[in-house]
Amino acid sequence: MKEFISVTEALQIVLENVRSTGSETVSLDGTLHRTLAEDLVSRDDIPPFTNSAMDGFAVRMSDLKDLPKSLTVIEDVFAGTVPLEVVHPGTCSRIMTGAVIPEGADAVVPVEWTREPDEDRVMIERAPLVGQYVRLRGEDVRAGDTVIPSGSIVSPPTVGMMASLGYARVRVARRPTVSVVSTGDELVDVTADLTQGTIRDSNGPALAAQAAAAGAEVLGPFRARDDLADIRCAIEAAREADVILFSGGVSVGSHDFVKRVLDEAGMQILFWKVRQRPGKPLAFGLLTGSVVFGLPGNPVSSAICFDCYVRPALAVMMRRRIVHRRRAVAKLEKPTPKSAGLHWFARGIARYDETGELLVRDTGPQASNLYSSMAFADCLIHLPEHLERADKGIRVEIEWLTW
Ligand code: AMP
Ligand code: MG
Repeated sequence: MKEFISVTEALQIVLENVRSTGSETVSLDGTLHRTLAEDLVSRDDIPPFTNSAMDGFAVRMSDLKDLPKSLTVIEDVFAGTVPLEVVHPGTCSRIMTGAVIPEGADAVVPVEWTREPDEDRVMIERAPLVGQYVRLRGEDVRAGDTVIPSGSIVSPPTVGMMASLGYARVRVARRPTVSVVSTGDELVDVTADLTQGTIRDSNGPALAAQAAAAGAEVLGPFRARDDLADIRCAIEAAREADVILFSGGVSVGSHDFVKRVLDEAGMQILFWKVRQRPGKPLAFGLLTGSVVFGLPGNPVSSAICFDCYVRPALAVMMRRRIVHRRRAVAKLEKPTPKSAGLHWFARGIARYDETGELLVRDTGPQASNLYSSMAFADCLIHLPEHLERADKGIRVEIEWLTW
């Protein structure tokens, strides 16, 4: 077991030790926010046929050298129908947006550029350019193109794209299952009234929500008192999941039994304690088919440890192309506490000033029990190990918190 390692090493160990959850096939309406496990390849050209971009008249450009010009209307072509006539010199077809361009026509004149249209004649007042208002077959997607690669997260436009490509069913990554076990004698349920010494279990619901937001399927909730037998029992119930998260009980208090019970259950512990703040007592290990995170109980610590280690682990399990959150460099608007030795994560609020420069400040006091600040932070500020002070004006790396 490694102890007191860097943030980078801890993340590397985590990501090296997670396995793919495999894939399953789901119908189109169940794909939103899932991770594609196949490339989406087009069987067709899109648009599948050359069509009109406007309501107007399909014309031959060679007819429009002198304007205005009167043309004979030979046919009405509606979207969803097939033109029967060829546009010969001196003629045109009335055409609707999305309708197939008839043979012989090489441009569309919008209805606004014409006058006195009647059943079989129209006066063209203005000429389009060759090809104007004509949408060419295959100009969006070509048959055989990979439109969206495996590992992408399905967004609403991806759903639209899949429908357009004819994907009624699609292969997606199986959601990793996550068990959340809250430990602590002080914890009561969200419905309970507080009595002296008790607090509501907030990490359980918060971690479950973080796991769901990260694409996992949550099992449980599980709760254990600070009691060896109770924790053993919770582990037995929780271990069917791909990922087991313990909240609390991993520090050095005399009632911190989680590590002891996990050892006993045969967990191969890979590291304990990371050179970071908050979240120093983080533990990570393997228990038969599952990976186990022992997250510190302080709510900010558990939330940040989830975000920095569990969320990317879930992304790798689903073979996502993008594993890490977006980062940016920002200027510190005011000093924030820092000393050398640990990587600090400060909760931050970022904004652009009038010149477009990205500025960031911390949310205020950074103690790891102050959970409300987690709710209004929009980024994490990374303050690396070696940094001794974080003065106003220095440039820092931030990571956007997008849930
Ligand atoms: P521990 O890691 O068990 O020593 O807990 C550290 C701190 O986090 C203590 O103040 C606990 O009361 C608090 N804590 C532990 N678990 C939870 C939880 N599930 N929800 C909210 N606070 C918790
Ligand atoms: Mg505890």
